[in-house]
Amino acid sequence: MKILVQKFGGTSVSTHERRSRVVDKIFKAKDKGFLPVVVVSAMGRKGQPYATDTFLSLVSENFKVNNPLSVDLLMSCGETISTVIIADELSKAGMEAVPLTGGQAGIITDDNYNDAAVLKVKKDKLMDILESGKIPIVAGFQGISEKGYVTTLGRGGSDVTAALLGTALNSESIEIYTDVDGIMTADPRIVSDASLIERISYNEVFQMADQGARVIHPRAVKIAMDGNVPLVIKNTLNDGKGTIITNSAVEVPGKVVDSITSMDNRVQITVKYSENKDSPNYYTLLDGLANNLISLDLINVFPYEEVFTIDDVDMDNFDIVMKNLGLNYTAIRGCTKISLIGSGMRGVPGVIAKILKVLFEENIKVLQTADSHTTIWCLVKSDMAGRAINALHREFLSDKR
Ligand code: ADP
Ligand code: MG
Repeated sequence: MKILVQKFGGTSVSTHERRSRVVDKIFKAKDKGFLPVVVVSAMGRKGQPYATDTFLSLVSENFKVNNPLSVDLLMSCGETISTVIIADELSKAGMEAVPLTGGQAGIITDDNYNDAAVLKVKKDKLMDILESGKIPIVAGFQGISEKGYVTTLGRGGSDVTAALLGTALNSESIEIYTDVDGIMTADPRIVSDASLIERISYNEVFQMADQGARVIHPRAVKIAMDGNVPLVIKNTLNDGKGTIITNSAVEVPGKVVDSITSMDNRVQITVKYSENKDSPNYYTLLDGLANNLISLDLINVFPYEEVFTIDDVDMDNFDIVMKNLGLNYTAIRGCTKISLIGSGMRGVPGVIAKILKVLFEENIKVLQTADSHTTIWCLVKSDMAGRAINALHREFLSDKR
């Protein structure tokens, strides 16, 4: 049995016209002799009637905080609706499909509502459906706990569903259909002349996804990598080849940066020794924050100060923790972390210097930098980020270099 998992994102299922493209892709897979297993997201994006955010706006904040089980059931509805609508479109095209919730498709999770971890995938029902010649349409982003309650897998969770089913069913590849041609050298919404990357390694895409490129969920990349199933990112609206993600990296000699990614809503925190001399907690600050589950990034420790970034959603919690620890700090909100990623930068001297020169020439202040073997990060104010990313893309990735 040659199985092919095909996942369609929110914009791909949002209108009748787009759904007919979805049907076309499923049809083509069948034509090539594959048994398609389809995974769908909720229709449309924020503000649209069947988008998950719209459902969430229907219940009070207080209820949401106190009823995670109910919230997960509510959040799962959009994907469930999509499965039936796609099944209808397929039936009009003469294909028999079976719409399934994540739980019915065998996605078993723990009961960590809103961000549940998948414990196992029970394949029997999917296999039965495939053997009967029908097409399973699985609601992405959701599972069922061992106690039998509906759970959700966190933002971007439909990618995770696709990756899980792809590895469990030994799919030929996992096709992720979206609204861009594949993985690009930068987010095409920010850099209009970003170009398509045809082949790239799991590791590099994981790094991109982890650093904010929302084109694929990092956990989905990890699952596909562990199962050694190729991931293919394609555009629902055309027949382009897309991006193939496998273990083999394609190294172009002399190329140091393969892509640029960014993450908004970062806050730069500075904690000065001179302002916290009397507090013994100064030395255990990082520990104290970790114990309170505040995740830190770009950590620079100097004899006279500690500098790091946090996500803006953690700001209230961070402020409470700092007050409890009796520590003073300053915060710069509205920052963007830019990541330049490339396996070829290992050991190449002068890359940071070049980045700083480009940003200096654009008159953009760099608040912080950090680097690893394959990534260089720099922090800038968010209102400068678009210009910074475009300037860096011109320097490192433009065809017109
Ligand atoms: P879907 O609803 O199909 O899951 P997403 O919005 O989650 O789609 O992901 C697709 C979006 O990812 C694109 O519209 C694009 O703006 C964004 N994106 C960010 N970085 C990149 C990149 N390097 N290459 C391609 N797309 C990117
Ligand atoms: Mg997505």
